[in-house]
Amino acid sequence: MDEHFKVLISKEELEKRIVELANQIDKDYTGKELTVICVMRGAVFFTVQLTLNMKTKLKYEFITISSYEGTDSTGDVMLRTDLRESIEGKDVLIVEDIIDTGKSMDYLLGHLRSKNPRTLKVCTLVNKSGRREVNVPIDYTGFEIDNKYIVGFGFDIDNNYRNLPYVAYLEA
Ligand code: 5GP
Repeated sequence: MDEHFKVLISKEELEKRIVELANQIDKDYTGKELTVICVMRGAVFFTVQLTLNMKTKLKYEFITISSYEGTDSTGDVMLRTDLRESIEGKDVLIVEDIIDTGKSMDYLLGHLRSKNPRTLKVCTLVNKSGRREVNVPIDYTGFEIDNKYIVGFGFDIDNNYRNLPYVAYLEA
């Protein structure tokens, strides 16, 4: 590991909390079929581990969003790839890696609500509520963290470090 990284959430803590979330979601969707929307690219690792621990009947969709190049301070979000299939009338769960300012999730919720799902809920592995600029509803949260920039388990710097099996932060 790069010497400037410090482990914030260990592999064991991730595994334990993700099983708890999977059980909670299973309970809430008993007898239903769920469409899970994985927000690319960061949430891939979380989505896989979460859903491998679930028993609910699932369909998967993937959506890619990103901030406009060069204007990340504005938080403008754009859609890069949309869903494949209709979610009209379906029970839908958005699986996201992190909610920071809330701008990405706010955009996603607006976009997905316009597709008329029956229900639309949000599951995030990490929440940085202290950084919130736009209020967004969150139904399932893995971990609350302070204002630290994190890497690992899907979190990147320039698309690097996503495959660290733990979540680490960059020491100042
Ligand atoms: P938002 O500010 O719109 O809630 O989050 C925008 C995006 O910023 C997130 O989806 C995520 O890709 C990125 N982001 C926010 N905080 C962190 C962080 O601590 N580490 C990494 N790698 N990405 C982050």
